[in-house]
Amino acid sequence: MRWSKSLIPTLKEDPADAEAISHKLMVRAGLVRQLAAGIYVYLPLGQRVMDRITAIIREEMNAIGGQEITMPVIHPAELWQASGRWGTIGDEMFRLKDRYQRDLCLGMTHEEVIAWIAAREIHSYRDLPQLWYQIQTKERDEARPKSGVLRTREFVMKDSYSLDRDMAGLDVQYEAHRQAYCRIFDRCGLRYAVVESDPGMMGGAGSHEFMAASPAGEDQVALCGACGYAANVELAASRPRPGGAFPPPTAGLAEVPTPNARTIAEVCALLQIEPALTIKSLVVMGGDGPVLALVRGDQQLRERKLERAIGAFRPAHRDEVREATGVEPGSVGPVGLPIRIIADECLRTGCYVAGANKPDTHLLGVVPGRDFQAEFADLHEANAGDGCGRCGAPLAVERVIEVGNIFKLGTKYSVSLKAVYLDEQGQERPIVMGSYGIGPARIAAAAIEQNHDAHGIIWPETIAPFQVHLLVVNAKEPKMAGVAEQLHVDLSGAGLDVLYDDREERPGVKFKDADLLGLPLRVTVGSRVVKDGVVEIRRRRTGEEIAVSPGEVVGRVRGLLGQAAARPVERAER
Ligand code: ATP
Ligand code: MG
Repeated sequence: MRWSKSLIPTLKEDPADAEAISHKLMVRAGLVRQLAAGIYVYLPLGQRVMDRITAIIREEMNAIGGQEITMPVIHPAELWQASGRWGTIGDEMFRLKDRYQRDLCLGMTHEEVIAWIAAREIHSYRDLPQLWYQIQTKERDEARPKSGVLRTREFVMKDSYSLDRDMAGLDVQYEAHRQAYCRIFDRCGLRYAVVESDPGMMGGAGSHEFMAASPAGEDQVALCGACGYAANVELAASRPRPGGAFPPPTAGLAEVPTPNARTIAEVCALLQIEPALTIKSLVVMGGDGPVLALVRGDQQLRERKLERAIGAFRPAHRDEVREATGVEPGSVGPVGLPIRIIADECLRTGCYVAGANKPDTHLLGVVPGRDFQAEFADLHEANAGDGCGRCGAPLAVERVIEVGNIFKLGTKYSVSLKAVYLDEQGQERPIVMGSYGIGPARIAAAAIEQNHDAHGIIWPETIAPFQVHLLVVNAKEPKMAGVAEQLHVDLSGAGLDVLYDDREERPGVKFKDADLLGLPLRVTVGSRVVKDGVVEIRRRRTGEEIAVSPGEVVGRVRGLLGQAAARPVERAER
């Protein structure tokens, strides 16, 4: 492709609103433009990257028996009402009415439509298993679209859905997906971790997330270098450092006045103690009324963990706290409180300072188990340096981008949408489903996050918009132009994807743009072709350069590309 006839609007400056490197570089390299908040146009180079990525995804989905379909973007409300999600999903769902005032929504995901198809087309155990997938546009009115294409309100997703007779069948398709996903992310050149996650709004029996390391990520994972444990911090199990030297338990409790000290920090400053010697008390409203949740003062409560322990809840309002405890939030504590109490495992031992359920008062010498009874559960956030929940070695915590996930859905959607089959005994049974997503745009952005330098992108070969950047230093110099034109023909004729920078621009501009675009190999036709009859082939990643005669270029380029492809993709040992 000739640059002079293409739309590749590179920019010298970073866009003002961009923070993530991938966002800056995708805009500067002319891959995308923002039409509105979280809504993007993919320009030719961006589209080529997406095409490369989706081609890899398609190959790997087909290899595990996936059948490609396309489902609509517009859905009738009835499907989502039947599953219950019309009510449970809030503003994230785009809703609209048609001319007859019928409710519709824009598809955020397609479990309901899949169950609808299955309810009509799957009849017997002989029709199962099935694996259906699509690469299609999703619409979500995200609360905070940000970081370029990493979180947008319209985005392409590969979503696949497995349908099985039973859990054993689901396990097989789930494992096939796990492996296919690893191949996809390996082939796209990502460093990533596969982590156990929280099924969230999907509901179900297990899920994993594929997390690519990047400071632009919104998620955090806890990773153990010793045993390979990897989990989202939302749910990661850890053994926090001991809370320091506990004072020996006193025979009884002692009240201490704590005027104006409401937060843990204020209480600690007043009493001259470490936060780890205090209990943090939080009142929440669960399904059966108020619950007091406790963590050690130096720890943070993780909502997902509490939800796992007590089911859905919300923070209590001030008046609900007052009604349940008789005091304002800052003085609440577990001793003598007649409501359900759930405490983090760290609090099984020790002797603490806690709120006294009296205004401006705390209790010293509180011993869990002696002074109050509680259920215990893992409620605390895993921090870097905590012991691994599995082996005890120190955990690292890393920022990551979720590039894909896999869920064991079970029968939630098949039951509510009546997707059933007749088993060998003629018994009606709900189809067992799995659902699996990948965001190609996030793969592209994560690849840039992990592969760039001060000058621009360094594309992994497999997903680069072109393989070769052919650059003529002076398009008006006859010898240079002649050689470059011939190389364009030869390289393209050899089946290589070539971007030919034939513009009449200053060499400095062209070299800068080449680095910014980051194609794997640059072939430069410059003054050396006039003097010595050679052109230069340069590898973007390493800067290695070789000089060859024009006739050798196709062979050498092929070899260099092949070499890199043959190299094992660098991948985290997790
Ligand atoms: P997140 O927790 O980041 O919001 P999610 O759990 O909502 O993601 P899924 O609904 O499971 O994600 O979607 C599957 C995949 O689609 C994700 O792993 C991600 O790669 C991609 N994806 C999800 N939301 C977005 C978005 N707003 N913009 C771009 N890609 C997205
Ligand atoms: Mg989401």
